[in-house]
Amino acid sequence: MSLVKKPFLSTADVSKEDVIAIFDRSALFKKEFEEKGRIDHLIKPNSLGQKVVTLLFQEPSTRTRTSFQLAALRLGLRVVLLDNMSISSMQKGETVGDTIRNAAAMQPDLLIGRFNEDLDAEEAIKALEIPVINAGLGAKEHPTQALLDAFTIREYRGQVEGERVLLVGDVLHSRVANSNLKLLRNLGAEVAYCAPEEFRPKDSLWQDVQHFPHRDEAVQWASVIMGLRIQTERHKDERSIGLTVANFRDRYRIGGDQLNHFREDGILLHPGPVIRGVEFSNYVLQDPRCHVLDQVTNGVYVRAALMSFMLGIEVSS
Ligand code: ASP
Repeated sequence: MSLVKKPFLSTADVSKEDVIAIFDRSALFKKEFEEKGRIDHLIKPNSLGQKVVTLLFQEPSTRTRTSFQLAALRLGLRVVLLDNMSISSMQKGETVGDTIRNAAAMQPDLLIGRFNEDLDAEEAIKALEIPVINAGLGAKEHPTQALLDAFTIREYRGQVEGERVLLVGDVLHSRVANSNLKLLRNLGAEVAYCAPEEFRPKDSLWQDVQHFPHRDEAVQWASVIMGLRIQTERHKDERSIGLTVANFRDRYRIGGDQLNHFREDGILLHPGPVIRGVEFSNYVLQDPRCHVLDQVTNGVYVRAALMSFMLGIEVSS
């Protein structure tokens, strides 16, 4: 496992072999929890030690923060949480980079962080000498989300290789989309996207990715549909976007009409938060092909598996 005691900032940091090892351990944790209601007994004696994980969240989070915390507690790790920056020294003028450097200087065994300022935070994270997990960095990457998405695809479709994954929505501002593109391609899936002109990504990573301007054609192509929220908090000048939510909904929302053209064994995913009626209709959220809450459940096991590998924790199968 090349991730042991290394930074995990991008899905480009993991090999296919590492991903498979993470998925196998995630599946073991999930099965064991479902059968016995615990996973800590799988950890080999003396391999846990007194390890402490620091969670540093500058940006809002529901699923990622609590699933990391829950996963750490299920493993038997200790957790330090700083997720309210209004009571941190950032209020006194400390930069996000210095906040990260100081949290790391206390020498937790693992630092898990989410930040909205790409450059300052990125520079600080990259220079850290302790293991670190990117839990969402600006519009750049959200690698653990992509891991749990791919794990969920594998769980329901049986494989990731050969799947046709369609990303729909605000691809331009989505860190989830960037991380997924790299990971899914590495695992042998085809990726395409459907987005209005305003939300089409501009950087070279996306240049050769198929774009569907029309929703219905895209849905027919896909075996997996992943909805993406409009990232309004990242639209610096709302007016420059020039696209209203109503306009987006009319042309890009996945609703009952689209599901009629979607394959019966297909799966619908969304990283959350879902803005009901905008990316997916209420009807879609109740369709048996929709696995949004399964993604959330899987996030706990995938994050537990990743943390255990990064901390060198040994697990018996
Ligand atoms: N929860 C995901 C993220 O933090 C997706 C979103 O917020 O729309 O990037």
